[in-house]
Order: sequence, then structure tokens, then C-alpha cells
Amino acid sequence: MGSIAPHVALLASPGMGHLIPMLELGHRLASTFSLRVTVFAVVTDASTVQSQLDQEYSVSKDILSIVLLPQVNLSSLMDQPIVIVSQIFLIMRYSMQFLRPAISSMDVPPTALIVDVFGVEAFAVADEFQMLKYGFITTNAWYLALVAHLPNINRRNEADHVRLHKPLNIPGCESVRFEDTISAFSNRDDQLLFDNYRRIGFELGRAHGLLVNTWESLEPKTLRALRDPKTMGRFLLSSRIFPIGPVVRPGQPAKQDVPRNKVLEWLDQQPAESVLYVAFGSGGTLSADQLTELAWGLKQSGHRFIWVVRPPKKDSASGSFFRLGKKTDKTPEYLPDGFVTRTQDKGLVVSTWAPQTEVLAHPSVGGFLSHCGWNSTLESILNGVPMIAWPLYAEQKMNATMLAEQLGMAVKPQKLPSSGIIRRDEIEAMVKRVMEKDGNEGKQMRFRAHDLKRTAGEALREGGSSHYMLSQMAKECEYGLEKLDEIRRGLD
Ligand code: UDP
Repeated sequence: MGSIAPHVALLASPGMGHLIPMLELGHRLASTFSLRVTVFAVVTDASTVQSQLDQEYSVSKDILSIVLLPQVNLSSLMDQPIVIVSQIFLIMRYSMQFLRPAISSMDVPPTALIVDVFGVEAFAVADEFQMLKYGFITTNAWYLALVAHLPNINRRNEADHVRLHKPLNIPGCESVRFEDTISAFSNRDDQLLFDNYRRIGFELGRAHGLLVNTWESLEPKTLRALRDPKTMGRFLLSSRIFPIGPVVRPGQPAKQDVPRNKVLEWLDQQPAESVLYVAFGSGGTLSADQLTELAWGLKQSGHRFIWVVRPPKKDSASGSFFRLGKKTDKTPEYLPDGFVTRTQDKGLVVSTWAPQTEVLAHPSVGGFLSHCGWNSTLESILNGVPMIAWPLYAEQKMNATMLAEQLGMAVKPQKLPSSGIIRRDEIEAMVKRVMEKDGNEGKQMRFRAHDLKRTAGEALREGGSSHYMLSQMAKECEYGLEKLDEIRRGLD
């Protein structure tokens, strides 16, 4: 190769939950493996994304360029309302008209294109320019197995799952219980949604490689199945599996000239591992009734907490503590009246957003009540923090089951939030199970969380499994499509 660094293009679909892992991956490829990286981002609100990037994401601009593609006007494309997953898919499809010229005009043509699951439409563009095609699954291997299996499920198994609510068998992997299933099955009447998921599964099967935000020792059984031509591997014959995680945004170091964030300042005053952090990702919301029950459950537990609250999803007439416009303290209007005053010695209510990675890394935090988005899950693992799993949408119910039943670092409510309100007494009990130091269960979960943190660290260090996998994939990008077979023969 000449002296010009090989160039790799990444494509992120709308949503910070997609863009952030893609930027992190780009940063790793550029800083560790001397590749030149361009991240194309499809966005729905360019100015907000730009300001979030400026504030929260400082990357070295000479090795990594970020290009926001022109916005697609979604309303002009839809003749009827469609669910968010299908909206993202539609936006991505129409963004190809901007990606194609952007790639063809690059001074150093990229050798590879890496897309998230919503960006598989761009594999056709990669084919046109003779580029390597990689999918980056920003969640885990179990979810990848489910989606890759989707185009291949026989009708009988599908009907058993959708109509009779039987577990969905995925060859070589844990089955998925109906109550944990993804919306393509639980909402099977939405044919467009189902077809979009099936398309993702089909396209992933023709990628050259699949990068997964997990690591070998976290999901050994599923990774084995994805590689085994007798089980899931038969649907992924051309795709090499690269577990490269955990890929998460690192916490920002404190800056001398910037005042310390109020939430972190409050945490500084609390005893070690005494605070439960409560947050539902970048967009999760609860109903008014559920907010009320959660508020009293936290209060009844007697434990310290930080709660990132958002207005309820829809108003509920039965919220007996819900008194709009009659506030006696600074309680947000959608929380029980007087809640902030009554819990002020123990709790901090934060409106909308907290610096989560820094909060979870703080020594005063001892537990995380989370919607189990995969980024939040990995951030909790990387800080050895046990969890209360409160899944809301997407693949979060699978994540919750994995955390509670397979990894042993979380408790889960008896019935999932999607099937009714979780009452205050159950919430109080779950908080105590995780936070109380003398209880065996809490100790056990904390031990498991710390052990997973250790294995994540081992996977990421030089020579560790995730570092090795990323270096193999970077080597493929360095040599390009023409030499892929040769490189792979050499690696085997
Ligand atoms: N996040 C944050 N502050 C908040 C809520 C969320 O910084 O108050 C960050 C969190 O650290 C994580 C991301 O937003 O990196 C949420 O991603 P996740 O996959 O957990 O959930 P999603 O938002 O995609 O549902």
C-alpha cells in the first residue's frame, strides 16, 4: 500500500443511539488502526445533532470527518402514519440519493462501507463502488440472531409464535419468549414493519462481515451458533462475525474551567454505592399512573436516588396523586404533589437529561433502574453497576431477560411494564433487593456486574478478543474487496 491511509465510510441512521456507537467505532478505527474514516450521518434535526456533537463529542477532525447528509422531508413521503422503525427505514431509502454522489466524489475512494441495521439499503451502493460491506449491530448477538433468522423462519414456527405465543426457536440460540419478542411479531398485522425487519435480516446475510457490540465471553453460545454452518451460520455464509464491543462513549473528564455538573456535585456528597440512578434512555417515557407509582415506590424504599424524569406519555384520569397546577414545591407538574420536598434529603429529580456515563462511573452510585437500551446496559456493565430491568420497547425486553436470567446482574418485575402498571410495593421490593448490602441477592448481582466489567476490560485491551476482532476487520478494510479471500485465507 502507498503512503495514503486507506479510507473507510460509515453510515449512521437517525437517532443519537445509532450515531454515538458509529462515531465511537469510527474513532477506534482511525486512532488505533490508522485508517482514514468518514462518518455519514442521516439526521432528522441537523442543528440539534450538530450542537450535541459540538458539546459532547470531541473527535480529532483530521482523522475522522463527520458529514451530515441533507435532510429528507418525511411528511412528503408518507401517505399514512407508520411506526418509527418504518419511518427510519424510509428515510434511509431516500437518503441513498445523497450517499451515492458523496461517495463517488471522495478524493480517496473508500474500500469499505459500514452501516447499522437500518442502513442495509446502502449495501447496493457499496456494490456499485466495489466496496466491502459490513453491518454494525449496535446491540447484541442474540438480537442479531433473531433478525437474521427472520427471513428464514418457517410459517409454522412463525404462526406458533405469533398466534399461540410459543417461544420462537432460533437455531443454536436461546429461544425468545413471546412476551420478550420484537414488534415485528407482537405487531404482526403491520406488514410493512415485518417486511422491513425481514429485509434487514436478508441484507445482513449478504454482508462481508457483521460487527456486533458484544464480546466473546458475554454471549459465547449465540456467537458459536452465528458461526456454525449447522445452525444460524447457514444463513450467514458470506458474513464473518466480529464481536468488537463494548463500544460506548467514554465519560468526559472533568475540565478545570467548566463548573462541575450539579448532578455530579450532589453525588459527591453521598455515601459510596448508596444511590439508585433511574433513567429510561434518550426517549423513554412512562404513563402518568406509572410515574406516580414509581415516585412512591422510590420514596417507600428509603434509598437515595437520582431520577431523570420526563412528562408522561399520556395523561391518566386515575392518577390520584396527579394534581396539575397545584404545586407546593418545585416538583414537576406530572409528579405527585410535594414529592420533591418529601424526598429532598434522599433524592434528586432531574428533568429530561443527566450526564449518564459520568453518573454511572461515580462511586456513590450502587444501582441503575433502566429501560435496558443496549448503550445503557453496556455503560452499567462497564461500571460494575447492578440493575433493575424496566424494558419499554425495541429489543429491550430481550436485553432485560438476558441481564436477569442469563447474566444474573439484574432484577426484573414479575410482569413487564408493557402488560400493566408496576405497583409501588413491587418497586420498593426491587429497589431493596438491588441496593441492600446485607442481602445476599444484592451482593451476588454486584459481584456478577463486577465480573462482567472485568471480562469487558479483558476483551478490549490489546490482544483481547474484541481488540483482535477489530484489528482483523481493519486489515480487511486496508486491502479491500479484491484481496478479501486472500486475507481471509491467511487469517484462518
Ligand atoms: N443518556 C444520557 N442521559 C440521559 C439519558 C440517556 O446521557 O439522561 C445516554 C445514555 O448514556 C446512552 C444513551 O443516551 O448512551 C441511550 O442509549 P440506549 O441505547 O441506552 O437507549 P435509547 O435511547 O437508544 O433507547
